[in-house]
Amino acid sequence: MAAARGPATEGRFVVVGGGIAGVTCAEQLALQFPSEEIVLVTASPLIKAVTNFKQVSKVLEEFDVEEQPSTVLENRFPNIKVIESAVKHLKSEDHCLFTEDGGQHVYKKLCLCAGAKPKLICEGNPYVLGIRDTDSAQEFQKQLTHAKRILIVGNGGIALELAYEVEGCEVIWAIKDKAIGNTFFDAGAAQFLTCKLGAEKLEAASTQKRTRYTMEAGRKKPQSGASAGHTGSALGPDWHQGLNLKGTREFSHKIHIETLCEVKRIYLQEEFRTSGKTSLAFPRGCPKESVTADTELWPVYVELTNGKVYGCDFIVSATGVTPNVNPFLSGNSFDLGEDGGLKVDGHMRTSVADVYAAGDICTAAWQPSALWQQMRLWTQARQMGWYAAKCLAADTLGHAIDMDFSFELFAHVTKFFNYKVVLLGKYNAQGLGSDHELMLRCTKGQEYVKVVMQNGRMMGAVLIGETDLEETFENLILNQMNLSSYGEDLLDPNIDIEDYFD
Ligand code: FAD
Repeated sequence: MAAARGPATEGRFVVVGGGIAGVTCAEQLALQFPSEEIVLVTASPLIKAVTNFKQVSKVLEEFDVEEQPSTVLENRFPNIKVIESAVKHLKSEDHCLFTEDGGQHVYKKLCLCAGAKPKLICEGNPYVLGIRDTDSAQEFQKQLTHAKRILIVGNGGIALELAYEVEGCEVIWAIKDKAIGNTFFDAGAAQFLTCKLGAEKLEAASTQKRTRYTMEAGRKKPQSGASAGHTGSALGPDWHQGLNLKGTREFSHKIHIETLCEVKRIYLQEEFRTSGKTSLAFPRGCPKESVTADTELWPVYVELTNGKVYGCDFIVSATGVTPNVNPFLSGNSFDLGEDGGLKVDGHMRTSVADVYAAGDICTAAWQPSALWQQMRLWTQARQMGWYAAKCLAADTLGHAIDMDFSFELFAHVTKFFNYKVVLLGKYNAQGLGSDHELMLRCTKGQEYVKVVMQNGRMMGAVLIGETDLEETFENLILNQMNLSSYGEDLLDPNIDIEDYFD
């Protein structure tokens, strides 16, 4: 009997990935080539759509993200055809993709937007969870409803949000840095935020995050043949909205932070019993008095590199992501970045002919502007997907194209601990060496403003709280005006800085 074969397509453009990068890329291509069929191949049954896009200033943008059935995309763009199946192999010399449903998809130009997956501190341990997509977030919520204590490992955005959002459950947070939120903040900003961890979250329920994340109600699990076992799209801003992140206990925040340490070993209950190790109770009060042995029995135990051992119900591994490159590597000569992503040049081209990449899967390997850096964020996934489509179109039509303006200045708006957070340019003095200075303004519980200056020019800024400074600072960073003569007036709260530079 002949083997069952899936659909075969032959189109000029094929895009892989139904996340923000892939969907944005396919939409743009569909607009630019209305008479061509754009094939979007994706492992997940739902796609991510950007809605209510708003350009807030030159580079800052806001949008909502909606998870939708792929038919919604096909209805909006009749020339987009969505194939719900994971790519298992790419044969670039034949310009052909092979999908798990047995399909073959021939392309002239291909854009890979398959995202990234969480790096787990260890694979195959049922007590170690990574949060990536809707399913894993729901699994986390389910486990949390039975939990009395969890241990979070990692210090990026997801760990920060979890530490703040989880209630009714003791949280031990292990970070390898000196201060929380190292990816986004310096020690000063971290201290400003840490105060909030001990406080009750009275206002949290009433304040929405900048971008809204919507999950389709009552959605179905992937059907076999579609994408079972494959990664869905990465969650984005507000991924925890609508999830009840509450453990079994009746308190708001109970967090203990272990700094400068990593996980040395994980023990299951039986292994721990025979190990002769002693685990510690949840630390209370002044650190020295608080170190007592734990009397409770836990399903899993974590030994940290600082020698401490804690028992918990489960561990959340939030230690970053690895680009999803595996299905595409075999037999193809992709150059990979140090972070494992597909290297792309200033036209979003990989090292393989006619294959482009955008979003979390790629590593920007062009010479970046002095004020931009790649970070695997929602906004950059959209910008790269959009720009990749423009490049595909320009290369196809033989047109020239300039690097998109969004790559001039790094700009990100988000919410941490219920504060608005704006990050601009080299906000943590990334790559500036020791030749820079910082200016700070801080009002406890209200705002934290930091600017990074080099040779009298503003190179970056962190704005926490309702500072209203983002547009002015964005302009000052972009125009690289010499600000030496303004000195400390720049951050003087009594001076209306906007008027000053009008
Ligand atoms: P993804 O959204 O991961 O999409 C990848 C797509 O490729 C999916 O549709 C997947 O099904 C498909 N795919 C994968 N493998 C295959 C295959 N073999 N064949 C076919 N299709 C395949 N960013 C922010 O800016 N702000 C935040 O607050 C924020 N919070 C986050 C919270 C969490 C829990 C997580 C996990 C991420 C968060 N991010 C945040 C990061 C942000 O979600 C990602 O940067 C962004 O979604 C990346 O988009 P993408 O399109 O590149 O990839």
